Parts: sequence; C-alpha cells; structure tokens
Amino acid sequence: MSRTPSLRPLYNYPGWVIQEIKLNTEVVMVRLRRDLRLKICCPHCLRVAGENRLVIQSAKDLPLGPVNLVQIIYEAIQGYCLGANGN
Ligand SMILES: [Zn+2]
Repeated sequence: MSRTPSLRPLYNYPGWVIQEIKLNTEVVMVRLRRDLRLKICCPHCLRVAGENRLVIQSAKDLPLGPVNLVQIIYEAIQGYCLGANGN
C-alpha cells in the first residue's frame, strides 16, 4: 500500500502551525498561524508581550518542482511589551 507523501515537512517553521496547504499545477499556497501554545515575547527584554494587532501577510518561497509560485500566508503579529519600562 503506497501513501502520498506530505508537503508538511517542507514548511516546518518553529513557532508556527500549518493550517492548510493547497496546490495545483501553478501555485502552492501554505497558510500558517501562530502556535498558540507559545507566548509572544518582547524581543528586547524577552518578557511576555501582549498582542496589539494581527495582519495577514504573504511571502514567496522557493519553487517546488515545476511549480514556480509558492506562497506562504501568515499572521504578522505586532506585540507590546508588558514590562514596566518597555525595555
Ligand atoms: Zn520589553
């Protein structure tokens, strides 16, 4: 019995979860969301940060076989520092 291999290992980004992968002969679309088990952290003081806003963005990835357009769609999250000074 053969199994169709999954594309999921190709798009394994730490901190992100693959919501869906759609593909046809011209486009591969990978939709990601933040891994909700992980907290958002301030990049300056590394404290847990709050979520200010979320915007859906996309980026192109390397071609996959004969498919030239590989689009990664992801949630871009703007956080705010919960630290006393914000630093
Ligand atoms: Zn901070």
